[in-house]
Amino acid sequence: DRIPLKRALISVSDKTGLIDFARALAARGVELLSTGGTAKALREAGLTVRDVADATGFPEMMDGRVKTLHPAVHGGLLALRDNEEHMVAARSHGIAMIDLLVVNLYPFEETVAKGADYADCIENIDIGGPAMIRAAAKNHAFVTTIVDVGDYAALLAEMDENDDATSHAFRQHQAQIAYARTAAYDAAVSGWMAQAVGEDTPRRRSFAGTLAQPLRYGENPHQAAAFYRDGSDRPGVASAKQWQGKELSYNNINDTDAAFELVAEFDPAEGPAVAIIKHANPCGVARGASAVEAYRRAYDCDRTSAFGGIVALNTVLDGETARAITEIFTEVVIAPGASDEAREVFAAKKNLRLLTTGGLPDAGAAGLAFRQVAGGFLVQGRDNARMTRADLKVVTRRQPSEQELGDLLFAWSVAKHVKSNAIVYARDMATVGIGAGQMSRIDSTRIGKRKSEDMAEALGLDQALTIGSAVASDAFFPFADGIEALAAAGARAVIQPGGSMRDDEVIEAADRLGLAMVFTGQRHFRH
Ligand code: 5GP
Repeated sequence: DRIPLKRALISVSDKTGLIDFARALAARGVELLSTGGTAKALREAGLTVRDVADATGFPEMMDGRVKTLHPAVHGGLLALRDNEEHMVAARSHGIAMIDLLVVNLYPFEETVAKGADYADCIENIDIGGPAMIRAAAKNHAFVTTIVDVGDYAALLAEMDENDDATSHAFRQHQAQIAYARTAAYDAAVSGWMAQAVGEDTPRRRSFAGTLAQPLRYGENPHQAAAFYRDGSDRPGVASAKQWQGKELSYNNINDTDAAFELVAEFDPAEGPAVAIIKHANPCGVARGASAVEAYRRAYDCDRTSAFGGIVALNTVLDGETARAITEIFTEVVIAPGASDEAREVFAAKKNLRLLTTGGLPDAGAAGLAFRQVAGGFLVQGRDNARMTRADLKVVTRRQPSEQELGDLLFAWSVAKHVKSNAIVYARDMATVGIGAGQMSRIDSTRIGKRKSEDMAEALGLDQALTIGSAVASDAFFPFADGIEALAAAGARAVIQPGGSMRDDEVIEAADRLGLAMVFTGQRHFRH
Protein backbone atom coordinates (compact mmCIF):
# COMPACT_ATOMS: atom_id res chain seq x y z
CA ASP A 1 0.00 0.00 0.00
CA ARG A 2 2.98 2.33 -0.25
CA ILE A 3 2.65 4.79 -3.11
CA PRO A 4 5.77 6.71 -4.15
CA LEU A 5 5.26 10.41 -4.76
CA LYS A 6 6.53 11.28 -8.22
CA ARG A 7 4.42 14.27 -9.15
CA ALA A 8 2.79 16.90 -6.94
CA LEU A 9 0.27 19.61 -7.70
CA ILE A 10 0.67 22.52 -5.33
CA SER A 11 -1.92 25.30 -5.34
CA VAL A 12 -1.99 27.34 -2.16
CA SER A 13 -3.41 30.70 -1.13
CA ASP A 14 -1.61 30.68 2.21
CA LYS A 15 2.01 30.44 1.17
CA THR A 16 3.36 29.98 4.70
CA GLY A 17 6.14 27.39 4.74
CA LEU A 18 5.66 26.79 1.01
CA ILE A 19 9.22 27.31 -0.18
CA ASP A 20 10.92 25.08 2.38
CA PHE A 21 8.31 22.40 1.87
CA ALA A 22 8.53 22.48 -1.94
CA ARG A 23 12.31 22.44 -1.74
CA ALA A 24 12.14 19.36 0.49
CA LEU A 25 9.82 17.67 -2.01
CA ALA A 26 12.10 18.55 -4.93
CA ALA A 27 15.07 17.16 -3.01
CA ARG A 28 13.15 13.88 -2.74
CA GLY A 29 12.74 13.80 -6.51
CA VAL A 30 9.13 15.00 -6.67
CA GLU A 31 8.18 16.88 -9.84
CA LEU A 32 6.21 20.06 -9.12
CA LEU A 33 3.16 21.39 -10.89
CA SER A 34 1.52 24.65 -9.76
CA THR A 35 -1.06 27.34 -10.39
CA GLY A 36 -0.09 30.95 -11.21
CA GLY A 37 0.73 32.59 -7.90
CA THR A 38 2.16 29.45 -6.35
CA ALA A 39 4.34 28.71 -9.41
CA LYS A 40 5.63 32.27 -9.37
CA ALA A 41 6.60 32.04 -5.71
CA LEU A 42 8.38 28.73 -6.30
CA ARG A 43 10.25 30.02 -9.34
CA GLU A 44 11.37 33.10 -7.49
CA ALA A 45 12.85 30.77 -4.90
CA GLY A 46 14.79 29.04 -7.68
CA LEU A 47 12.69 25.88 -7.88
CA THR A 48 11.78 24.11 -11.10
CA VAL A 49 8.03 24.00 -11.55
CA ARG A 50 5.62 23.31 -14.39
CA ASP A 51 2.52 25.49 -14.84
CA VAL A 52 -0.86 23.81 -14.61
CA ALA A 53 -1.80 25.88 -17.69
CA ASP A 54 0.92 24.03 -19.54
CA ALA A 55 -0.49 20.65 -18.47
CA THR A 56 -4.08 21.54 -19.37
CA GLY A 57 -3.34 23.48 -22.53
CA PHE A 58 -5.65 26.21 -21.23
CA PRO A 59 -4.59 29.51 -19.68
CA GLU A 60 -5.91 30.37 -16.24
CA MET A 61 -8.90 32.55 -17.00
CA MET A 62 -11.88 34.51 -15.70
CA ASP A 63 -10.01 36.08 -12.78
CA GLY A 64 -8.73 32.67 -11.74
CA ARG A 65 -12.21 31.22 -11.46
CA VAL A 66 -11.07 28.58 -13.94
CA LYS A 67 -7.54 27.30 -13.38
CA THR A 68 -7.48 23.64 -12.56
CA LEU A 69 -10.99 22.58 -13.58
CA HIS A 70 -9.82 20.36 -16.41
CA PRO A 71 -9.63 16.60 -17.17
CA ALA A 72 -5.84 16.82 -17.31
CA VAL A 73 -5.92 17.69 -13.60
CA HIS A 74 -8.93 15.71 -12.43
CA GLY A 75 -8.04 12.66 -14.51
CA GLY A 76 -4.61 12.72 -12.93
CA LEU A 77 -6.15 12.84 -9.48
CA LEU A 78 -9.01 10.40 -9.95
CA ALA A 79 -7.62 7.63 -12.15
CA LEU A 80 -7.35 4.24 -10.51
CA ARG A 81 -3.78 3.18 -11.10
CA ASP A 82 -4.64 -0.52 -10.99
CA ASN A 83 -7.47 -0.23 -13.51
CA GLU A 84 -6.41 -1.03 -17.06
CA GLU A 85 -9.17 1.04 -18.69
CA HIS A 86 -8.40 4.07 -16.56
CA MET A 87 -4.75 3.84 -17.51
CA VAL A 88 -5.51 3.43 -21.21
CA ALA A 89 -7.81 6.48 -21.08
CA ALA A 90 -5.17 8.52 -19.32
CA ARG A 91 -2.47 7.56 -21.83
CA SER A 92 -4.64 8.20 -24.87
CA HIS A 93 -5.51 11.71 -23.60
CA GLY A 94 -2.03 12.54 -22.41
CA ILE A 95 -3.07 12.75 -18.76
CA ALA A 96 -0.20 12.44 -16.29
CA MET A 97 -0.84 11.00 -12.83
CA ILE A 98 -0.73 13.34 -9.83
CA ASP A 99 0.36 11.51 -6.67
CA LEU A 100 0.33 14.38 -4.22
CA LEU A 101 -2.11 17.27 -3.96
CA VAL A 102 -1.23 20.21 -1.76
CA VAL A 103 -4.01 22.80 -1.59
CA ASN A 104 -5.17 25.41 0.80
CA LEU A 105 -8.21 27.36 -0.15
CA TYR A 106 -9.03 30.98 -0.91
CA PRO A 107 -9.35 32.63 2.52
CA PHE A 108 -13.14 32.82 2.54
CA GLU A 109 -13.54 32.77 6.34
CA GLU A 110 -10.89 35.46 6.83
CA THR A 111 -12.46 37.61 4.12
CA VAL A 112 -15.84 37.45 5.88
CA ALA A 113 -14.22 38.05 9.28
CA LYS A 114 -12.59 41.26 8.11
CA GLY A 115 -15.97 42.60 7.02
CA ALA A 116 -15.44 42.51 3.26
CA ASP A 117 -18.33 43.42 0.98
CA TYR A 118 -20.59 40.88 -0.68
CA ALA A 119 -18.80 40.77 -4.03
CA ASP A 120 -15.43 40.33 -2.34
CA CYS A 121 -16.75 37.43 -0.24
CA ILE A 122 -18.23 35.80 -3.33
CA GLU A 123 -14.93 36.12 -5.20
CA ASN A 124 -13.24 34.38 -2.27
CA ILE A 125 -15.30 31.23 -2.64
CA ASP A 126 -12.77 28.73 -3.95
CA ILE A 127 -14.14 26.36 -6.57
CA GLY A 128 -11.23 24.52 -8.14
CA GLY A 129 -9.49 23.97 -4.80
CA PRO A 130 -12.32 22.05 -3.11
CA ALA A 131 -12.94 20.13 -6.35
CA MET A 132 -9.34 18.93 -6.39
CA ILE A 133 -9.31 18.20 -2.67
CA ARG A 134 -12.44 16.08 -2.93
CA ALA A 135 -11.10 14.24 -5.98
CA ALA A 136 -7.72 13.48 -4.43
CA ALA A 137 -9.22 12.48 -1.09
CA LYS A 138 -11.67 10.13 -2.83
CA ASN A 139 -8.74 8.47 -4.54
CA HIS A 140 -6.68 8.14 -1.37
CA ALA A 141 -5.95 4.56 -2.34
CA PHE A 142 -3.36 6.16 -4.62
CA VAL A 143 -3.20 9.89 -3.94
CA THR A 144 -1.94 11.84 -0.94
CA THR A 145 -3.81 15.03 -0.03
CA ILE A 146 -2.46 17.80 2.17
CA VAL A 147 -4.80 20.70 3.02
CA ASP A 148 -3.15 22.08 6.13
CA VAL A 149 0.15 23.96 6.28
CA GLY A 150 0.62 22.31 9.65
CA ASP A 151 0.83 18.88 7.99
CA TYR A 152 3.83 19.62 5.70
CA ALA A 153 6.27 18.31 8.29
CA ALA A 154 4.20 15.17 8.88
CA LEU A 155 4.24 14.38 5.16
CA LEU A 156 8.02 14.80 4.92
CA ALA A 157 8.47 12.57 7.96
CA GLU A 158 6.15 9.98 6.40
CA MET A 159 8.16 10.03 3.16
CA ASP A 160 11.41 9.63 5.08
CA GLU A 161 10.06 6.58 6.83
CA ASN A 162 8.74 5.02 3.62
CA ASP A 163 11.42 5.58 0.96
CA ASP A 164 9.70 8.71 -0.38
CA ALA A 165 6.30 6.96 -0.47
CA THR A 166 3.25 7.26 1.79
CA SER A 167 1.36 4.49 3.55
CA HIS A 168 -2.33 3.82 3.07
CA ALA A 169 -3.00 4.75 6.68
CA PHE A 170 -1.39 8.15 6.19
CA ARG A 171 -3.29 8.88 2.98
CA GLN A 172 -6.59 7.82 4.53
CA HIS A 173 -5.96 9.99 7.57
CA GLN A 174 -5.17 13.00 5.39
CA ALA A 175 -8.23 12.30 3.22
CA GLN A 176 -10.42 12.50 6.30
CA ILE A 177 -8.85 15.83 7.24
CA ALA A 178 -9.39 16.98 3.66
CA TYR A 179 -13.12 16.28 3.75
CA ALA A 180 -13.42 17.94 7.15
CA ARG A 181 -11.87 21.02 5.55
CA THR A 182 -14.16 21.13 2.51
CA ALA A 183 -17.20 20.46 4.69
CA ALA A 184 -16.24 23.29 7.04
CA TYR A 185 -15.54 25.53 4.08
CA ASP A 186 -18.94 25.01 2.51
CA ALA A 187 -20.60 25.34 5.91
CA ALA A 188 -18.87 28.70 6.32
CA VAL A 189 -20.15 29.78 2.91
CA SER A 190 -23.66 28.57 3.71
CA GLY A 191 -23.61 30.22 7.14
CA TRP A 192 -22.49 33.51 5.68
CA MET A 193 -25.15 33.36 2.97
CA ALA A 194 -27.80 32.43 5.55
CA GLN A 195 -27.03 35.71 7.30
CA ALA A 196 -26.92 37.61 4.03
CA VAL A 197 -30.39 36.42 3.01
CA GLY A 198 -31.76 36.68 6.55
CA GLU A 199 -32.57 32.99 6.74
CA ASP A 200 -30.40 31.84 9.60
CA THR A 201 -32.95 29.29 10.71
CA PRO A 202 -32.46 25.89 12.33
CA ARG A 203 -34.08 24.11 9.41
CA ARG A 204 -31.84 25.51 6.73
CA ARG A 205 -28.31 25.57 8.02
CA SER A 206 -25.57 23.05 7.60
CA PHE A 207 -23.06 23.18 10.36
CA ALA A 208 -19.37 23.04 10.80
CA GLY A 209 -16.77 25.20 12.38
CA THR A 210 -13.14 25.89 11.84
CA LEU A 211 -10.72 24.81 14.49
CA ALA A 212 -9.77 27.86 16.51
CA GLN A 213 -7.56 26.07 18.99
CA PRO A 214 -7.08 22.62 20.45
CA LEU A 215 -7.72 22.72 24.20
CA ARG A 216 -5.65 21.00 26.85
CA TYR A 217 -8.73 19.13 27.99
CA GLY A 218 -12.49 19.43 28.24
CA GLU A 219 -14.81 19.92 31.15
CA ASN A 220 -12.63 17.41 33.02
CA PRO A 221 -8.98 16.46 32.50
CA HIS A 222 -9.79 13.04 31.04
CA GLN A 223 -11.84 14.58 28.21
CA ALA A 224 -10.16 15.69 24.97
CA ALA A 225 -11.41 19.04 23.67
CA ALA A 226 -11.06 21.73 21.04
CA PHE A 227 -12.51 25.17 20.36
CA TYR A 228 -14.19 25.88 17.02
CA ARG A 229 -15.26 29.13 15.43
CA ASP A 230 -18.53 29.20 13.54
CA GLY A 231 -17.62 32.10 11.27
CA SER A 232 -20.15 34.55 12.69
CA ASP A 233 -19.00 38.09 13.41
CA ARG A 234 -20.66 38.32 16.85
CA PRO A 235 -18.26 39.97 19.30
CA GLY A 236 -17.44 37.52 22.06
CA VAL A 237 -15.01 35.03 23.44
CA ALA A 238 -14.36 33.36 20.05
CA SER A 239 -13.12 36.57 18.45
CA ALA A 240 -11.69 38.31 21.53
CA LYS A 241 -8.10 39.47 21.84
CA GLN A 242 -6.35 37.97 24.84
CA TRP A 243 -3.86 40.42 26.33
CA GLN A 244 -2.35 38.29 29.05
CA GLY A 245 -2.66 35.19 31.19
CA LYS A 246 -2.40 31.53 30.31
CA GLU A 247 -4.47 29.81 27.67
CA LEU A 248 -8.23 29.70 28.26
CA SER A 249 -9.61 26.33 29.30
CA TYR A 250 -12.80 24.71 28.09
CA ASN A 251 -14.66 25.81 31.24
CA ASN A 252 -13.18 29.31 31.03
CA ILE A 253 -14.48 29.72 27.49
CA ASN A 254 -17.92 28.47 28.44
CA ASP A 255 -18.15 30.73 31.49
CA THR A 256 -16.66 33.75 29.74
CA ASP A 257 -19.28 33.42 27.05
CA ALA A 258 -22.06 33.23 29.63
CA ALA A 259 -20.70 36.33 31.38
CA PHE A 260 -20.35 38.42 28.25
CA GLU A 261 -23.72 37.43 26.81
CA LEU A 262 -25.30 38.44 30.11
CA VAL A 263 -23.80 41.94 30.31
CA ALA A 264 -24.72 42.43 26.66
CA GLU A 265 -28.34 42.64 27.90
CA PHE A 266 -27.51 46.03 29.38
CA ASP A 267 -27.16 48.98 27.06
CA PRO A 268 -23.94 50.84 27.95
CA ALA A 269 -25.72 54.08 27.05
CA GLU A 270 -27.73 53.54 30.25
CA GLY A 271 -24.60 53.05 32.31
CA PRO A 272 -22.07 50.37 33.16
CA ALA A 273 -23.10 46.83 34.08
CA VAL A 274 -20.97 44.03 35.47
CA ALA A 275 -21.63 40.30 35.74
CA ILE A 276 -19.63 37.78 37.73
CA ILE A 277 -20.05 34.17 36.65
CA LYS A 278 -19.31 30.82 38.22
CA HIS A 279 -20.11 27.52 36.51
CA ALA A 280 -22.06 29.38 33.83
CA ASN A 281 -24.44 30.96 36.37
CA PRO A 282 -24.21 34.56 37.58
CA CYS A 283 -23.29 35.00 41.23
CA GLY A 284 -23.72 38.76 40.99
CA VAL A 285 -24.89 41.27 38.41
CA ALA A 286 -25.25 45.00 38.88
CA ARG A 287 -25.47 48.34 37.20
CA GLY A 288 -23.73 51.32 38.71
CA ALA A 289 -22.94 54.98 38.18
CA SER A 290 -19.41 53.87 37.32
CA ALA A 291 -17.91 50.55 36.29
CA VAL A 292 -16.17 50.18 39.62
CA GLU A 293 -19.42 50.76 41.47
CA ALA A 294 -21.19 48.20 39.28
CA TYR A 295 -18.38 45.74 40.00
CA ARG A 296 -18.49 46.26 43.76
CA ARG A 297 -22.27 45.93 43.84
CA ALA A 298 -22.13 42.73 41.76
CA TYR A 299 -19.43 41.39 44.06
CA ASP A 300 -21.54 42.16 47.11
CA CYS A 301 -24.30 39.81 45.94
CA ASP A 302 -22.27 36.72 46.76
CA ARG A 303 -18.65 37.36 47.68
CA THR A 304 -17.99 33.73 48.50
CA SER A 305 -18.95 32.45 45.06
CA ALA A 306 -17.27 35.35 43.23
CA PHE A 307 -13.86 34.00 44.24
CA GLY A 308 -12.22 32.50 41.14
CA GLY A 309 -15.03 33.82 38.99
CA ILE A 310 -15.25 35.37 35.56
CA VAL A 311 -16.05 39.05 35.25
CA ALA A 312 -17.71 40.70 32.26
CA LEU A 313 -18.29 44.41 31.69
CA ASN A 314 -20.50 46.11 29.13
CA THR A 315 -18.07 49.05 28.98
CA VAL A 316 -14.36 49.65 28.70
CA LEU A 317 -12.42 48.39 31.72
CA ASP A 318 -10.79 51.34 33.49
CA GLY A 319 -7.90 51.40 35.94
CA GLU A 320 -9.99 51.79 39.07
CA THR A 321 -12.22 48.86 38.21
CA ALA A 322 -9.18 46.78 37.31
CA ARG A 323 -7.71 47.51 40.75
CA ALA A 324 -10.96 46.51 42.47
CA ILE A 325 -11.07 43.25 40.49
CA THR A 326 -7.51 42.36 41.51
CA GLU A 327 -8.48 42.50 45.18
CA ILE A 328 -9.62 38.88 44.87
CA PHE A 329 -8.64 35.97 42.65
CA THR A 330 -10.42 36.17 39.31
CA GLU A 331 -9.93 33.81 36.35
CA VAL A 332 -10.95 35.91 33.36
CA VAL A 333 -12.09 39.46 32.65
CA ILE A 334 -13.87 40.23 29.38
CA ALA A 335 -14.92 43.68 28.21
CA PRO A 336 -15.39 45.59 24.97
CA GLY A 337 -12.08 47.32 25.70
CA ALA A 338 -9.52 48.09 28.39
CA SER A 339 -7.66 51.31 29.14
CA ASP A 340 -3.85 51.41 29.20
CA GLU A 341 -4.04 51.91 32.94
CA ALA A 342 -6.26 48.86 33.39
CA ARG A 343 -3.81 46.79 31.39
CA GLU A 344 -0.92 48.00 33.53
CA VAL A 345 -2.81 47.05 36.70
CA PHE A 346 -3.48 43.57 35.34
CA ALA A 347 0.09 43.12 34.09
CA ALA A 348 1.15 42.47 37.68
CA LYS A 349 -1.31 39.56 37.88
CA LYS A 350 0.27 37.11 35.48
CA ASN A 351 -2.45 34.46 35.67
CA LEU A 352 -5.42 36.75 35.16
CA ARG A 353 -6.65 36.57 31.60
CA LEU A 354 -7.84 39.79 30.03
CA LEU A 355 -9.97 39.61 26.88
CA THR A 356 -11.25 42.51 24.83
CA THR A 357 -13.78 42.18 22.06
CA GLY A 358 -13.93 45.60 20.43
CA GLY A 359 -17.69 45.71 20.90
CA LEU A 360 -20.75 44.30 22.56
CA PRO A 361 -22.91 41.64 20.89
CA ASP A 362 -26.51 42.50 20.11
CA ALA A 363 -28.61 40.64 22.68
CA GLY A 364 -31.58 40.84 20.33
CA ALA A 365 -29.77 39.40 17.33
CA ALA A 366 -30.90 36.18 15.70
CA GLY A 367 -28.56 33.20 15.72
CA LEU A 368 -28.51 29.52 16.50
CA ALA A 369 -27.93 27.54 19.66
CA PHE A 370 -26.92 23.88 19.80
CA ARG A 371 -27.17 21.05 22.27
CA GLN A 372 -25.93 17.56 21.77
CA VAL A 373 -28.03 14.50 22.49
CA ALA A 374 -27.12 10.84 21.93
CA GLY A 375 -27.08 10.31 18.20
CA GLY A 376 -27.74 13.89 17.19
CA PHE A 377 -27.99 17.48 18.20
CA LEU A 378 -30.75 19.95 18.80
CA VAL A 379 -30.74 23.30 17.10
CA GLN A 380 -32.83 26.30 18.06
CA GLY A 381 -32.83 30.02 17.54
CA ARG A 382 -30.87 31.79 20.26
CA ASP A 383 -32.98 33.24 23.06
CA ASN A 384 -32.99 36.81 21.78
CA ALA A 385 -36.29 37.91 23.32
CA ARG A 386 -36.22 41.31 25.03
CA MET A 387 -38.78 42.72 27.42
CA THR A 388 -39.93 46.31 27.66
CA ARG A 389 -42.32 48.05 30.02
CA ALA A 390 -44.94 48.13 27.31
CA ASP A 391 -44.91 44.32 27.12
CA LEU A 392 -45.70 43.85 30.81
CA LYS A 393 -49.17 43.10 32.09
CA VAL A 394 -49.87 44.06 35.69
CA VAL A 395 -52.07 41.34 37.23
CA THR A 396 -52.26 42.46 40.87
CA ARG A 397 -54.25 45.19 42.52
CA ARG A 398 -51.06 46.99 43.40
CA GLN A 399 -49.17 48.55 40.48
CA PRO A 400 -45.39 48.29 40.67
CA SER A 401 -43.68 51.61 41.40
CA GLU A 402 -41.27 53.16 38.90
CA GLN A 403 -38.34 51.87 40.90
CA GLU A 404 -39.85 48.39 41.14
CA LEU A 405 -40.47 48.33 37.41
CA GLY A 406 -36.82 49.12 36.76
CA ASP A 407 -35.68 46.40 39.13
CA LEU A 408 -38.18 43.91 37.71
CA LEU A 409 -36.88 44.34 34.18
CA PHE A 410 -33.31 44.20 35.44
CA ALA A 411 -34.00 40.96 37.34
CA TRP A 412 -35.80 39.55 34.30
CA SER A 413 -32.78 40.17 32.06
CA VAL A 414 -30.55 38.43 34.58
CA ALA A 415 -32.97 35.50 35.03
CA LYS A 416 -32.76 34.85 31.29
CA HIS A 417 -29.11 33.89 31.87
CA VAL A 418 -29.61 31.76 34.99
CA LYS A 419 -30.10 28.00 34.66
CA SER A 420 -33.65 26.90 35.36
CA ASN A 421 -35.34 26.96 37.73
CA ALA A 422 -34.16 30.55 38.05
CA ILE A 423 -35.15 32.98 40.79
CA VAL A 424 -33.44 36.38 40.87
CA TYR A 425 -33.90 38.89 43.70
CA ALA A 426 -32.81 42.43 42.78
CA ARG A 427 -32.76 45.81 44.44
CA ASP A 428 -31.63 49.13 42.99
CA MET A 429 -30.35 47.47 39.82
CA ALA A 430 -28.23 44.89 41.59
CA THR A 431 -28.90 41.25 42.27
CA VAL A 432 -29.14 40.47 45.99
CA GLY A 433 -29.95 36.76 45.81
CA ILE A 434 -29.88 34.20 43.00
CA GLY A 435 -31.34 30.70 43.10
CA ALA A 436 -30.18 28.65 40.11
CA GLY A 437 -30.52 25.23 38.56
CA GLN A 438 -32.93 23.61 41.00
CA MET A 439 -35.44 20.95 40.13
CA SER A 440 -38.20 22.76 42.00
CA ARG A 441 -38.93 26.46 41.81
CA ILE A 442 -39.59 26.74 45.51
CA ASP A 443 -36.04 25.50 46.21
CA SER A 444 -34.56 28.21 43.97
CA THR A 445 -36.67 30.72 45.86
CA ARG A 446 -35.29 29.50 49.18
CA ILE A 447 -31.70 29.28 47.99
CA GLY A 448 -31.73 32.85 46.69
CA LYS A 449 -33.08 34.04 50.02
CA ARG A 450 -30.60 32.04 52.07
CA LYS A 451 -27.63 33.26 50.02
CA SER A 452 -28.84 36.80 50.53
CA GLU A 453 -29.07 36.25 54.28
CA ASP A 454 -25.56 34.82 54.38
CA MET A 455 -24.28 37.84 52.49
CA ALA A 456 -26.11 40.28 54.76
CA GLU A 457 -24.47 38.59 57.72
CA ALA A 458 -21.03 38.73 56.10
CA LEU A 459 -21.56 42.43 55.36
CA GLY A 460 -22.67 43.02 58.96
CA LEU A 461 -26.13 44.20 57.93
CA ASP A 462 -29.00 43.74 60.33
CA GLN A 463 -31.60 42.83 57.74
CA ALA A 464 -31.72 40.55 54.72
CA LEU A 465 -30.96 42.17 51.37
CA THR A 466 -34.08 40.66 49.88
CA ILE A 467 -36.28 43.02 51.93
CA GLY A 468 -37.96 45.35 49.46
CA SER A 469 -36.58 43.44 46.47
CA ALA A 470 -38.08 42.78 43.06
CA VAL A 471 -37.98 39.17 41.95
CA ALA A 472 -37.86 37.50 38.56
CA SER A 473 -38.86 33.91 37.90
CA ASP A 474 -37.81 32.46 34.51
CA ALA A 475 -41.05 30.47 34.23
CA PHE A 476 -44.46 30.57 35.87
CA PHE A 477 -45.13 29.67 39.49
CA PRO A 478 -47.10 26.41 39.44
CA PHE A 479 -48.42 27.00 42.98
CA ALA A 480 -48.98 29.88 45.36
CA ASP A 481 -46.26 28.58 47.72
CA GLY A 482 -43.51 30.25 45.63
CA ILE A 483 -45.18 33.63 45.99
CA GLU A 484 -45.62 33.06 49.72
CA ALA A 485 -41.92 32.24 50.04
CA LEU A 486 -40.98 35.42 48.16
CA ALA A 487 -43.21 37.52 50.40
CA ALA A 488 -41.65 35.85 53.45
CA ALA A 489 -38.25 36.93 52.10
CA GLY A 490 -39.50 40.52 52.04
CA ALA A 491 -39.92 40.81 48.26
CA ARG A 492 -42.30 43.53 47.10
CA ALA A 493 -42.69 42.90 43.37
CA VAL A 494 -42.60 39.90 41.05
CA ILE A 495 -42.06 39.42 37.32
CA GLN A 496 -42.90 36.08 35.75
CA PRO A 497 -44.38 34.71 32.51
CA GLY A 498 -47.75 33.68 33.92
CA GLY A 499 -49.73 30.97 32.18
CA SER A 500 -50.03 28.44 35.00
CA MET A 501 -53.28 26.51 35.48
CA ARG A 502 -53.29 28.03 38.96
CA ASP A 503 -52.55 31.63 37.96
CA ASP A 504 -55.69 32.67 39.85
CA GLU A 505 -54.36 31.23 43.11
CA VAL A 506 -50.94 32.76 42.48
CA ILE A 507 -52.41 36.21 41.79
CA GLU A 508 -54.70 35.90 44.81
CA ALA A 509 -51.69 35.13 47.01
CA ALA A 510 -49.79 38.14 45.64
CA ASP A 511 -52.79 40.39 46.33
CA ARG A 512 -53.24 39.00 49.81
CA LEU A 513 -49.54 39.62 50.59
CA GLY A 514 -49.48 43.09 49.06
CA LEU A 515 -47.11 42.26 46.22
CA ALA A 516 -47.17 43.88 42.82
CA MET A 517 -46.89 41.31 40.04
CA VAL A 518 -46.43 41.57 36.28
CA PHE A 519 -46.73 38.88 33.61
CA THR A 520 -44.38 38.84 30.63
CA GLY A 521 -46.21 36.21 28.60
CA GLN A 522 -42.76 34.87 27.71
CA ARG A 523 -40.47 32.51 29.54
CA HIS A 524 -36.73 32.02 29.62
CA PHE A 525 -35.94 28.39 30.33
CA ARG A 526 -32.21 27.75 30.16
CA HIS A 527 -30.94 24.24 30.78
P1 5GP B 1 -2.34 30.73 -6.88
O1 5GP B 1 -1.91 31.63 -5.76
O2 5GP B 1 -1.44 29.56 -7.05
O3 5GP B 1 -2.55 31.48 -8.17
O4 5GP B 1 -3.78 30.16 -6.52
C1 5GP B 1 -3.92 29.22 -5.50
C2 5GP B 1 -5.37 29.10 -5.07
O5 5GP B 1 -6.21 28.87 -6.20
C3 5GP B 1 -5.60 27.96 -4.12
O6 5GP B 1 -6.25 28.50 -2.97
C4 5GP B 1 -6.52 27.00 -4.88
O7 5GP B 1 -7.42 26.35 -4.01
C5 5GP B 1 -7.21 27.90 -5.85
N1 5GP B 1 -7.63 27.24 -7.10
C6 5GP B 1 -6.99 26.28 -7.79
N2 5GP B 1 -7.68 25.98 -8.92
C7 5GP B 1 -8.78 26.77 -8.95
C8 5GP B 1 -9.87 26.92 -9.88
O8 5GP B 1 -9.97 26.27 -10.91
N3 5GP B 1 -10.83 27.83 -9.55
C9 5GP B 1 -10.75 28.57 -8.42
N4 5GP B 1 -11.73 29.46 -8.16
N5 5GP B 1 -9.73 28.46 -7.54
C10 5GP B 1 -8.75 27.57 -7.80
